[in-house]
Amino acid sequence: MFDKVLIANRGEIALRIQRACREMGIKTVAVHSTADESAMHVRLADEAVCIGPPAAKDSYLNIAAILTAAKISGADAIHPGYGFLSENAKFAHMVEEHGLVFIGPSHEHITLMGDKIAAKEAAMKAGIPVVPGSDGGVATYEDAKVVAKKIGYPVIIKATAGGGGRGMKMAPDEASLETAFRTARAEAESAFGNGDVYIEKFLTKPRHIEIQVLADSFGNVVHLGERDCSLQRRHQKVLEEAPSPALNAEQRTKIGTIAADAIRKIGYRSAGTIEFLFEDGEFYFIEMNTRLQVEHPVTEMITRIDLVREMIRIAAGAPLGYTQDDVKFIGHAIECRINAEDPVTFMPCPGQVGLYHTPGGLGVRVDSGLYSGYKVPSNYDSMIAKLIVHGTNRNECLMRLRRALDEYVIDGLKTTIPLHQRLVSNADIVNGDYDIHWLEHFMKEDEA
Ligand code: ADP
Repeated sequence: MFDKVLIANRGEIALRIQRACREMGIKTVAVHSTADESAMHVRLADEAVCIGPPAAKDSYLNIAAILTAAKISGADAIHPGYGFLSENAKFAHMVEEHGLVFIGPSHEHITLMGDKIAAKEAAMKAGIPVVPGSDGGVATYEDAKVVAKKIGYPVIIKATAGGGGRGMKMAPDEASLETAFRTARAEAESAFGNGDVYIEKFLTKPRHIEIQVLADSFGNVVHLGERDCSLQRRHQKVLEEAPSPALNAEQRTKIGTIAADAIRKIGYRSAGTIEFLFEDGEFYFIEMNTRLQVEHPVTEMITRIDLVREMIRIAAGAPLGYTQDDVKFIGHAIECRINAEDPVTFMPCPGQVGLYHTPGGLGVRVDSGLYSGYKVPSNYDSMIAKLIVHGTNRNECLMRLRRALDEYVIDGLKTTIPLHQRLVSNADIVNGDYDIHWLEHFMKEDEA
C-alpha cells in the first residue's frame, strides 16, 4: 500500500480523498494556490505545498508544479479528484513516467473516453446501445444538414472534446441548424481548443441515468447500480439520487450487466461511470467519465462501499475482494449540490462565511470544506458543499432531506439551499416524475 498520497485538487473533494487516506493509514500531501492558503484541505493535510497563483491554469492545472510537489514531498501516488487534471491523459501519463502511481485508469483509457466520438464507437463495439446520430464527426454545415435530415429533428450538436455541458447546441428544425452548428463549433473551439463536433438525435424527455463501475487490474468488474442525475441546469447536475425512481429491478440489472461487461471487454481499471439517457424503457450511451464523480456519495450511501478507498486499493494493485452478488443496495440516497450562487439568478456569490452550522443526525452526510470565517474565493467552481442524505426508502430520504436542509446555516453568502428546499417539496420531485428538461421549465415558470 502507498505510504503517502498527493491530492491534486481542492475543496470538498480534496478533503474527501484525505479522509479515505487517513482511514487507510496513508499520509496526505495537499497542494494549493495562493488563494487557498487557509482552505480546509490545506489545514487538515499532513503536508501542504503551494503550487502557484490563484488562476487554476497556473496552479491546479500546472502539471510541472504538481509533479514537483509530489517529488519534493516524497509522495508515491497522486489522486486527481474530479475536474482539473482528472481526465487529462497527458498528466496521467507523466505521473507514471515520473515513477509515481496515478490513482485512476490508464492514460490510454482516458484518451479513448475523452474523445466522445471514439468513446461512442468503443461503446458500440462493446455492446452498449448509443444515441442515434452521425457516424463520427461532422465537418461542414452541408454534412450536418444531410445527417440531421436522416436521423430526424430535433437534433443536438455536440463537441467531440466536450465536458461540463459546453459546446452543445440543440436545433429543433432545419431553419435553426446552421446557427446551432456554427455556435457549437465556435464554443467548442474556444472552450477546448478543438472545434470538432458530431450530431445526435435530441431526446425530448429522457432521464440521465449513469452506472458506477469498479474494475481491478485482474479483470474483476462490478457495477454499483445507477444514479439518476436528471435534475440539471444548463446540462449541469443539481441534485442526484440512487436508486432511480424510474427503473425497476430488471432494468437495473440489465443495464448494470451491460455496463460491467463492456468495462471488462475494454480492459478498464479503476472507478468509472457510464452515462446514459433513458427514454421509453430504452438506454442510450452518451459518454463515459474516467474518474470519480461529484455525485459518487449517493452510491456509497446505498452500497456502503467507499469508492475512494477502492480506487486507492486498485491503484496499489489489490484485487476487488468481492463479486457482483456481494453488492447489496440498501435504501435510498439523495445529494444536493450547494453552490455559492443566487438561488434565482444563479450568479456566483463568493464571500466570507459568517455563522456556519451543518445538519446532523441519522443518515446525514455533509461533504464540504466550509467553516465559519472562511472566505470563498471567486477563482473556482461555485459548489461549496454537498448534502447527502440516506433513508430506508425514498420517502424517508426526502423527509430527512427537508429536515437537513432546514437545519443547514451558511450565513454571509447566498447559496442554492432555498432552491433545494423548493425542489424537495415539489410534487413532481416527490413523485419521482421528472426528466432532464424539468428543472429548466421549473425555472422558467418562476420567471413568468
Ligand atoms: P458533458 O460531457 O458536457 O457533460 P454529456 O454528453 O454528458 O456532455 O451530456 C450532458 C447532458 O446534456 C446530458 O445529461 C443531457 O442532459 C444533455 N444531452 C446530451 N446528449 C443529449 C441528447 N442526445 N438529447 C438530449 N439531451 C442530451
